[in-house]
Amino acid sequence: MPDDRNGKVYLVGAGPGDPGLLTLRARECLQRADLVLYDGLVNPLILQHTAGQCERTARVRRENALVVPQAEVCHRMIQAARAGRTVVRLKGGDPYIFGRGSEEVGALETAGVRFEVVPGITAASAAAEYAGFPLTHREVASAVAFITGHEDPMRTECRLDYRALAAFPGTLVFYMGLTRLSDICAELIAAGKPGDTPAAIVCQTTLPSQRSVFATLQSLPAQAAAAALRPPSLIIVGDCLRLRRQKSWFEELPLFGLSIGITRPRDQSLETAQLVARLGGEPVVLPLIEVAPVSGDAAENVRLCLLRLADYDWVIFTSVNAVTEFVNQLRIAGLDARALGAIRIAAIGTSTAEKLHQHLLTADVVPSNSSAESLSQTLIPRVSGQRCLYPRASRGREVLTPALRAAGAVVDELVVYENRDASALDPGLVSRLRNGELHWIGLSSPAIARQLAALITREQIPPESWPTRIASLSPVTSQAAADAGLIVAAEAGEATWEAMLAAIARSHNSAGRP
Ligand code: SAH
Repeated sequence: MPDDRNGKVYLVGAGPGDPGLLTLRARECLQRADLVLYDGLVNPLILQHTAGQCERTARVRRENALVVPQAEVCHRMIQAARAGRTVVRLKGGDPYIFGRGSEEVGALETAGVRFEVVPGITAASAAAEYAGFPLTHREVASAVAFITGHEDPMRTECRLDYRALAAFPGTLVFYMGLTRLSDICAELIAAGKPGDTPAAIVCQTTLPSQRSVFATLQSLPAQAAAAALRPPSLIIVGDCLRLRRQKSWFEELPLFGLSIGITRPRDQSLETAQLVARLGGEPVVLPLIEVAPVSGDAAENVRLCLLRLADYDWVIFTSVNAVTEFVNQLRIAGLDARALGAIRIAAIGTSTAEKLHQHLLTADVVPSNSSAESLSQTLIPRVSGQRCLYPRASRGREVLTPALRAAGAVVDELVVYENRDASALDPGLVSRLRNGELHWIGLSSPAIARQLAALITREQIPPESWPTRIASLSPVTSQAAADAGLIVAAEAGEATWEAMLAAIARSHNSAGRP
């Protein structure tokens, strides 16, 4: 009988790659995990859902991933659970489809460790949807078989029965078959499957790097070789492929195929990463700055100021972070939105106004063009002789305060958060950057633009031959980028990441898709 005082292991399917194809249950388990052991197929972006310690356990050697033998993975899970930890064993696709899930569960049972198993979307079913064909169809395929193409040729007792497969009345899907593609096709034909049966390979399905080749059983090996495909990939054989849509909805998404560096502070990048993924792109979290609440004397200063809030006529916000930190500090001071009473509120743009709204605060002034210049133009006629509080970052542009003071306002600046350069980036990320593997990098503030320029200099990246293109959130950011020697290829029409991604998509589509 398992011991309830021990921890527990959740064997969880992570789906085929797109981080949105994770189940709610999987996310719950990740949120609760102390330790996550994830296999080589799992998209690391999924790890954003956990605060637990994460370790990769690849079975085949890939760049900077350790190969961990199966027995060691089981040992590690059992050991951690016995130490009272909640362990998530995260596996690509579904844990029980060619995932050794049942072997791992067997080891847990033998060790008397409690476990649960969470299904995932398996690669075959995702490939069909994302590449645009059904696996079954009333008229052409009434069954589907999942087959391993990675057979041990030395093993005689368990060889695939190609005669049975050739006669199978439905769709055949081979997992792990790319290296044996020619043999698989030849064996099926030799066993009686017509050479003109439709056949396809779908690689890296659900990821922005998805590629597919559609051919016949006869011609697939040559066509696949010409396409230089990369694993993981599935081989699909059957008449259901005749029902393929001419266009895959996924490959038609506006950012399909593009990797996009998100330079915002890490804890704000999740929602932007999701946005990029939903548009078919690969989000690459590349935090160049970090923000942190003020502490010590500065925090005490904020508290004292908030207790005197009623002295002010206006509170002016020029960033989402300022709103978040202001509201946090109000809470810490034992106050809430009522402390603002009749004080009027100004927001620099729609994102800041939306953040205020989430806290039940409606901005009285939001200029249509999101910049400190527009905000000061809008405020100047209204603030003469008035007392304004400007909660802001420890660094930023010095535009607003002098303009409002010149217009006769009394402005108190209050530093509510630190904005500083991020500590060292992950070396793998820096090498992707250096090799020009990112298609675009989005810059969302002048400080971020300067940081990127500094990074490029430090890494000795020659700007002329660097293929990565740069997008900017606003004219002010573009100017800072240009001043730092960067060339901006796309600028957002409005100061939001949505608008910046739309500008990237426009630029990409007008330049012609790859
Ligand atoms: N448990 C996984 C399969 C693990 S076996 C699942 O249910 O999907 C590994 C094989 O899965 C790969 O060799 C490949 O055939 C397939 N596979 C996994 N992810 C894939 C992807 N994103 N695109 C295409 N094939 C994939």
